Amino acid sequence: MNNRRLIYLDNNSTTPCDPRVVDAMIPYFYEKHGNAASRSHQFGWEAEDAVDYAREQVAQLIGAEDKEIIFTSGATESNNLAIKGVFEMYAKKGNHIITAETEHKAVLDTCKHLEKVGAEVTYLKVQEDGMVSLTDLEAAMRPTTILVSFMWANNETGVIQDMKGIADICEKHGVLFHSDATQAVGKIPTLAREIGVHLMSFTAHKMYGPKGVGALYVSRKNPRVKVTAQMDGGGHERGMRSGTLNVPGIVGFGKAAEIARLEMAQDAERLSKMRDRLQAELTQLEETKVNGNENSRMPHVTNISFKHVEGEGLMMTFNQSIAVSSGSACTSASLEPSYVLVGMGLGDDLAHSSIRFSLGRFTSDEEIDEAIKLVANGVNHMRELSPIWEMYKDGVDLTKIEWAAH
Ligand SMILES: *Cc1c(COP(=O)(O)O)cnc(C)c1O
Repeated sequence: MNNRRLIYLDNNSTTPCDPRVVDAMIPYFYEKHGNAASRSHQFGWEAEDAVDYAREQVAQLIGAEDKEIIFTSGATESNNLAIKGVFEMYAKKGNHIITAETEHKAVLDTCKHLEKVGAEVTYLKVQEDGMVSLTDLEAAMRPTTILVSFMWANNETGVIQDMKGIADICEKHGVLFHSDATQAVGKIPTLAREIGVHLMSFTAHKMYGPKGVGALYVSRKNPRVKVTAQMDGGGHERGMRSGTLNVPGIVGFGKAAEIARLEMAQDAERLSKMRDRLQAELTQLEETKVNGNENSRMPHVTNISFKHVEGEGLMMTFNQSIAVSSGSACTSASLEPSYVLVGMGLGDDLAHSSIRFSLGRFTSDEEIDEAIKLVANGVNHMRELSPIWEMYKDGVDLTKIEWAAH
């Protein structure tokens, strides 16, 4: 298969590995193949040293201590460990959790699971720009609230929450603050302790590292947070996550974290220019809408609705050439509109007509030129074929039409 012409603008789904990451990993599949828990020989020591070093690299990226990093299989597991682990550990204090409707499924479904075993969960609505209202958060606090969980940046829109504002409210109420920071870590500064985040989930494969390895940050001082292990076994990761460590994956994660720390600022500057150009050109088309707060947004993401154009259909006009995601079918085989966009108040039609463009470290200016051309042509083509677009152009008020009963 020849993928060379396929333009990849779906970096929020996963990123390719940086070649420097793969180079760092390779020895740990071969000559340095030891188990990091083997204390009796050179192979084990070498693996353990490599894991220690990677732990430092990851900790440094988020302004944490080495011992505050627990390696997991990814952000899904980290979210489960954080939320279930706090719920069980702090059961005596309360059973109430606050989160938002626009969180990732790994947070929402974990909360739904806990509701079946006695948790009370408040799912806050977000505002039209995707931001959590601090007033709503303050109002939702109860004496039994033990955990607040909000993502740092949204995977579909790139909207960045007011993390400091949220952290201050949590601090005032003495409630733990967890963040699914998967989309933010390695791309913008995410200094957990400085902001006041007590637990933080993230994953290597969204920051140019390998799939299947992630981390949970757990604050060890002010406050000292504890979570109940969700995996029983050999007591790895100071008892919080048993299972033989994925040494090559962790080494790659460490390298990815180091590269991100050193290159984040320049990557963000370059990508935001490309993203802004893509967005400016595409919003020249009639009847488009950028979804999410443009002043508090990841530098490499734009989510655009092309009114009266069905996103999945639009993608078919160019999906041999550009890989993106639409506001449909994100979580299932059925064409449900994105619950994130619907949660921001978009109608089903606008949600279905949206496309997420997420650029990455390896996106080039030439690819953006090409993408602008292909998407604009696709939108124009779809609209030429669309009777609804024709009616709209004829000045028919589509909201007043009485469609035949079905
Ligand atoms: C990708 C993603 C996850 C899941 O991460 P995995 O490492 O694939 O389990 C969780 N939360 C957010 C916001 C994500 O974007």
